[in-house]
Amino acid sequence: MVTPQDLINGIKEYYPNVDESLIERAYLFALTKHGTQIRESGDPFFFHPLEVAEILISLRMDQDTVIAGMLHDTIEDTNTTIDELGKIFGNNVANMVEGVSKLSKFESSSIAEKQAENFKKLLISAASDIRILIIKLADRLHNMKTLKFKKKKVRRQYIAKETLEIYAPLAERIGVTKVKDELQDIAFTELYPDIYNSIKSRLNHLYESSEHIISTITSKLTELAISLDISCTISGRIKSPYSIWSKMNVRNISFEQLADIMAFRIVVDNVAQCYQMLGGIHKNYLVVPNRFRDYISTPKNNNYQSLHTSVIGPLNKKIEIQIRTKEMHLVAEYGIAAHWDYKENGSRTKVDHQWINNLVHILENASGMEEFWENSKTEISSNAVYCITPKGNIVSLPKGSSVLDFAYSIHSDVGNSAIESRLNGQLVPLNTKIENGDQVEILTDQNHIPEPHWEDYVVTLKAKTAIKKALNSLEKERIFMIGRSNFYEFFKWHNVDISEKDVQAIAKNLKFDSATQLFYSIGTCELTMSDVLSTYNEIKQTGLKLIIDNSESCKNTLPIRNLPNIPVLPVTCCSPVPGDRIVGIISRGKGIEIHIEECQISNNQIDGQEKRLIPLSWSKEAFDEKVRYLAKLAIVVVYEPGNLSAIATIIEGKNGNIINLKIGEKFEKFARIQIELEISDIAQLTIIMAALRSAEFIQKVTRT
Ligand code: MN
Repeated sequence: MVTPQDLINGIKEYYPNVDESLIERAYLFALTKHGTQIRESGDPFFFHPLEVAEILISLRMDQDTVIAGMLHDTIEDTNTTIDELGKIFGNNVANMVEGVSKLSKFESSSIAEKQAENFKKLLISAASDIRILIIKLADRLHNMKTLKFKKKKVRRQYIAKETLEIYAPLAERIGVTKVKDELQDIAFTELYPDIYNSIKSRLNHLYESSEHIISTITSKLTELAISLDISCTISGRIKSPYSIWSKMNVRNISFEQLADIMAFRIVVDNVAQCYQMLGGIHKNYLVVPNRFRDYISTPKNNNYQSLHTSVIGPLNKKIEIQIRTKEMHLVAEYGIAAHWDYKENGSRTKVDHQWINNLVHILENASGMEEFWENSKTEISSNAVYCITPKGNIVSLPKGSSVLDFAYSIHSDVGNSAIESRLNGQLVPLNTKIENGDQVEILTDQNHIPEPHWEDYVVTLKAKTAIKKALNSLEKERIFMIGRSNFYEFFKWHNVDISEKDVQAIAKNLKFDSATQLFYSIGTCELTMSDVLSTYNEIKQTGLKLIIDNSESCKNTLPIRNLPNIPVLPVTCCSPVPGDRIVGIISRGKGIEIHIEECQISNNQIDGQEKRLIPLSWSKEAFDEKVRYLAKLAIVVVYEPGNLSAIATIIEGKNGNIINLKIGEKFEKFARIQIELEISDIAQLTIIMAALRSAEFIQKVTRT
């Protein structure tokens, strides 16, 4: 059995000034009070608070919390009073035990309303002292560890479900990863024994060979670190059945497809080394696309920081790698407990938990407990994000919502006229995802209209509907304009001066009520210009011939909206990507070139006679993420070893795909580099250029 001295030694590891006699006293107090009480497992009841105290020590909790953990069931299950605890162990301990005791009915209730009521108590207690929540989590963890002794299956399943829905997300939310992982794994075993067993047996099969694999990969990564002059600790492990299962669920893939069941953690001394190590790994191993995450520059809402990437590592194994500093590692393991300050007699420093206050705020404003319960479940399980308006109001949005969703949630007019946004004071693109606690401000311009690709920026129904509605009316207008310009363009092209009367006659002949409808049909490509021409010939009794066969042109694959029905000519001076402002240059008798509006070469060529300029715009299809476009960048860089791979890392980190890289002229210590890359639109290109510009060794980034 665990002795008082075991506990004292445990605390001493991180808090040498522990009050030994007080710990002994708490131990004896709990032992005496619980006396001969027995748990369902057949063990003495006292084992339970003792285990809870040990869990709290493993989380490096302060002395008062450990004592409160040891005493947490005394008020509920014995004749102990709060006053009694206060006199012996101080008010801090007494308050915590009282806070935990108020919550004890939470577990035995099965009615949603009552459960919600108790959950409300849990939050209010946590808001007054977050340590109450941590004791409750330790209590739940031990109860889960002994869950198998509960006789009623319904009870076990209920507790397991509640653990997955409430306690594990709460543990994750305050960053106590160790507790979260254990809670999830035990609950998973109870709720889905078949899935658990099948994953476990496949893992066991892999385990047989994996020990050797893990040590080989670890030593390869260590060699790499040494070659980069980085001292670090590397550990490898097989992921837990629950995390494998949830990945299979989230990404909707099978066990076989989920190749990266091995995860490696590299703990280094400082932030610079994190990125150096990442650069080294990306340089030496094939990077799995879309898996790189930089939680150092953008920490998770529980303060977790780390770099994540997946590569085809040593032995050609697909592995996940996390890179972080020692401090980040402590936070990753212990969450808020890592921030404890033990300088002043083992007590805590105040840690701000705005999210709990937010929940309490909702709680005070929700119309019924049921509604609150639903809201809270989404809040703690992070299916919702909470952000703050410039006036300080809290707005809740589904997880994954963008700044633009926020704008539409305020009012559809705000959304429709949004031009820029500030997130915590920084200018950000409208598709930036909102994190909990972000302060969001929208800048509007009444003349601005929604853009087609906005539909991909939003997740909320309200925003999607509003954008669609606005686009539909804009689209109609645009189609009309395109049709009309194509019509007149076509006749000019054929050197025909067409009169208003002719237009009306053509429309009538083709059974349209008005010229507007005629133009609209041309705009939608329902009516081709060769049909129009034959009608014109009929009316005018002329034999005008089609100069360029445009029967194919409406099937033009370029996602450009108002492209006239003439051939598209290749250009080399610039490479427009969706989102760029583009112009067409029509060369008489040849066709049309498409340029970026700012392109100097194109602008210089216009002479008004042989070449004419027409404005063009991208169609919605252009913003399909699956379609990639070529973009060219010129970068002036300090020419030093490693800088090229660092550039590649930056670009790949933003999901750009480099297809060509050429080193051009060198001057002094600088070099000019030409990069061709594939990207999906201007927004992504802008992000890549901004990331490159923020690198110290990069002098200049321009598009070419
Ligand atoms: Mn308990």
